[in-house]
Amino acid sequence: MTAVSVKPLKLLNTRSQKKEVFKGHYENKVSIYCCGPTVYGYTHVGNARAALTLDLVSRIFKLAHYQIEAARNYTDIDDKIIEASKRENKTSHEIAEFYQKAYDEELSLLKALTPKFRPKATESVEDIVEFIQSLEKKQMAYSVQTEFGTDVYFRVSKFKKYGALSKRKLDDMIAGSRIDIDEKKEHPADFALWKAAKPEEPSWKSPWGNGRPGWHIECSAMIYKIFKSDLDIHMGGLDLIFPHHENEIAQSESLTEKALATYWLHNGMIEVGKEKMSKSIGNILRTADFIRDYGAETLRLLVFQQHYRSPMDLSEESILRAEALIDKLYLAKLTAKTIKPTADSAVTPLETKLPSELESLSAKIEESLLDDFNSAKALGQILSALRASHRENTASCWQVWAQSLPFLNSVFGILEEDPAQALKHSRERRLKRMQITETQAAEIDQKLIERENLRKQKNFEASDQIRKDLEKEGIQIMDGPDGSAWAVSKEK
Ligand SMILES: [Zn+2]
Repeated sequence: MTAVSVKPLKLLNTRSQKKEVFKGHYENKVSIYCCGPTVYGYTHVGNARAALTLDLVSRIFKLAHYQIEAARNYTDIDDKIIEASKRENKTSHEIAEFYQKAYDEELSLLKALTPKFRPKATESVEDIVEFIQSLEKKQMAYSVQTEFGTDVYFRVSKFKKYGALSKRKLDDMIAGSRIDIDEKKEHPADFALWKAAKPEEPSWKSPWGNGRPGWHIECSAMIYKIFKSDLDIHMGGLDLIFPHHENEIAQSESLTEKALATYWLHNGMIEVGKEKMSKSIGNILRTADFIRDYGAETLRLLVFQQHYRSPMDLSEESILRAEALIDKLYLAKLTAKTIKPTADSAVTPLETKLPSELESLSAKIEESLLDDFNSAKALGQILSALRASHRENTASCWQVWAQSLPFLNSVFGILEEDPAQALKHSRERRLKRMQITETQAAEIDQKLIERENLRKQKNFEASDQIRKDLEKEGIQIMDGPDGSAWAVSKEK
């Protein structure tokens, strides 16, 4: 059996700030580590975006014929978990277990691929202790006595490359007071590897007495255990570059004297639409609530409409547009499946010459995806090909557009349902959310069709009147390049 050769893939490396051609430690394989959630509460759309970015990257590597070894951790030792356990009157273990399960369920609803390795901090304490001991032997760590016992700190000033990822200088960090001044520490930038146990906190035995690991060390220890020094890609949100990833690099590279990862890849943050923000859409929109109200596919599409590194606008309008787009894609899937070449269309010139939007469609989509995982560009190509198919409305156009479907399925992870079922569920979900009946919805649909016809006849006065009438009833119309959608306005 001959191995399928991998396709070249480019990615922007945060560390070099350059777009580079991917080259892994092993042929045809890619190893990826992504910093996971701290399991102390329900996750929000920002956590989902990070998870879906790992999903997208994994799926695109698959498309390029790579074997994937991915890991994502659960931080189940943390101050926030201890606080939540007090608040909810449960043990830290119960809190972490409950919210880890909730996270896993959300990701399974989102159809995110499950990473091969999912280490937990509580199950890695032995590895963490060994890692810290090795750093001590190399004089990169030191102990400090506190009222509770012994803390261990990382000696940042001995690590010459500190700041290489975040492009910061140690002196500037102190001047900018980015870091706490603490008299126990040799240097203000030093950070805790091990913390002595305070009363009633969960703790583990160690050579320094009872205590618990600091946050940064768990990722370094887990990566070392799983991948040794052969990690290709390290991922996480942009907000983790400093101090978390900088500290991971300091710990790991001090120990191994090799690069912690060849490539660093960071996803952008969520921005909430400034003006027309409704009360239900705050900075902390829960993933589970989003899925219940708008569907998992809408969230996937919303995330992948942006390049992974760009900020993502989370406004009611952007969500509703994504929701409407999913329906539109399902309708297109239905059309592409059912349209049959007619006798005359087989001989029209349109059938022999494809519109430019449909030319080499698969190749264009693939090229975008393999160029720094540009899902936004690929989706743009799929949608402009869809507009062309609607415009020409010939069997051969729709057949070519259908080349998008394998990408929408395997890379975007959407459009896999039966179109009729998916459209039915989407409508039911929408009516439930807006608390209106099917009859009311059908009336609104009818008015939108009337309005569209008036607009085509350039009777804008009458079409505007329909909009105004609907607005009075609390129905908001959103016009976009792919048609119009409506929603019951929250300000009603
Ligand atoms: Zn991490």
